[in-house]
Amino acid sequence: MNRYLIVGAGFSGAVIAERLAKNPDNFIVVIDEREHIGGNCFTERDSETNVMVHKYGPHIFNTDNIEVWNYIQEFCQMMPFVNRVKTIFNGNVYSMPINLHTINQFFEKTLNPTEAKDFIKSIADNTIDVPSNFEEQALKFIGKDLYEAFFYGYTKKQWGCEPTELPASILKRLPVRFNYDDNYYSNPYQGIPKDGYTAIFEKMLNAPNIKVNLNTKFDSKWDVREYDHIFYTGPIDSFFNYKYGRLSYRTVFFESSITNDDYQGNAVINYADPDVPFTRIHEHKHFTPWESHNKTIYFKEFSKETEEGDVPYYPKRLAQDLEKLVEYQKEVEKLDKFTFLGRLATYRYMDMHHVIAEALEIHRQFIKQ
Ligand code: UDP
Repeated sequence: MNRYLIVGAGFSGAVIAERLAKNPDNFIVVIDEREHIGGNCFTERDSETNVMVHKYGPHIFNTDNIEVWNYIQEFCQMMPFVNRVKTIFNGNVYSMPINLHTINQFFEKTLNPTEAKDFIKSIADNTIDVPSNFEEQALKFIGKDLYEAFFYGYTKKQWGCEPTELPASILKRLPVRFNYDDNYYSNPYQGIPKDGYTAIFEKMLNAPNIKVNLNTKFDSKWDVREYDHIFYTGPIDSFFNYKYGRLSYRTVFFESSITNDDYQGNAVINYADPDVPFTRIHEHKHFTPWESHNKTIYFKEFSKETEEGDVPYYPKRLAQDLEKLVEYQKEVEKLDKFTFLGRLATYRYMDMHHVIAEALEIHRQFIKQ
C-alpha cells in the first residue's frame, strides 16, 4: 500500500487524488484548511434565491486543451456558456474585450475591420519595440485613449499599483479583436458545469481509497514519515513560514445583495472608472441561463492587498516577489518526497484549465518513476 498526502482540495489536489485513486494499492489523504472542498472554484446554491453562486468569484471554464476538456467532462455536464462582458466607463456601456464595437462606439466611428486595424495602428505607440510592462503592452497595441479608458483605472483598482510595475503578460490574457466577436475568451472549448463546480470535486474525491479531512491546516512541522509522497498545493511562502518574506498577492472581497428579477441583465459588468470603488459586478443567475429564477443575487467585487487570514487570489509577481520566489524554489529542490504544484505553490497566475493540465502531467510523470 502506497500512502499519499495531498495538501489542498482545489483542482491541483483533486486531480492528483483522482488519478492516484485509480490504483487500488494507493491510499490518499487530502487535507484542506477550509471547511469545504473545491478551493476558489467552490459553488453553492444561495438559500434565499436558489441561484448557484460562485462564492469566490466567477469561474467560466475555457480551454484549448482537448485532453483537459474531455477530462473535466468525466465529472460534469458542461453547458454551453459564452461570457460576454460589458464595461462601464464615463457614463457609457461598452463591450469587453476590445472589439470592433468597442472601437467604433468609443471613437464614434463606423470603421470596418481593415479601417479599424489601420486606425488603431495610427494611434498606437509605435516607438515601443518589446513592451516591458503592462502599460507599454497596452500603449503599443491599443494606444493611449483606449488604455486610459478601459485599462488604467481598472488595473490600478485590481492590482493596487501602477500598471508600469506589472508584467506585460497580464494584459496579453485579453485579445483585441477587429470584428464584432464579443466572447471574452478565445479558447475553443467553453462552458459552465450544469450543477456547479463543487459537484465536480465531490465526484473526483469520491473513491474508497481517498479520505478528505477539512478544517485541517498543514505546516512544515507535520510528521510526514507515514507518507510515500506529499503533493503540496498551498502557498509556497507559508510552507516555509515566510522565512524569506511574504510573496504579494491581491485578494478580492464581495458585497452581496439580493433583489427581485434582473439586476444588470448580464453575468459580468466591469467598472473602468477609477472613482468607482469596485472593479466589477457579477450577477450569478446569468451564469446558468438554463435555469429560471424570480430573485437575483449579485456581488460587487473589490480588490485589496492580502493580509493575514485573507484568501490569496492573484500573484502579483513584482520584481521583489520574484527574488524571494527564487529563494523558496531553492528550498523546495532540497526537499525529499514533496511535489509543489498549482497556483499558490508555484506562485503563478493560472486558470483552472492550466492547473488541471499541469496536475495531469505531474501525475503522468510521477507514476513513470
Ligand atoms: N483588465 C482591465 N480592464 C478590464 C478587464 C481586464 O484593465 O475591463 C486588466 C486587468 O489588469 C486584469 C487583466 O486585464 O487583471 C486581465 O484580465 P482578466 O479578465 O484575464 O482577469 P481575471 O479574470 O483573471 O481577473
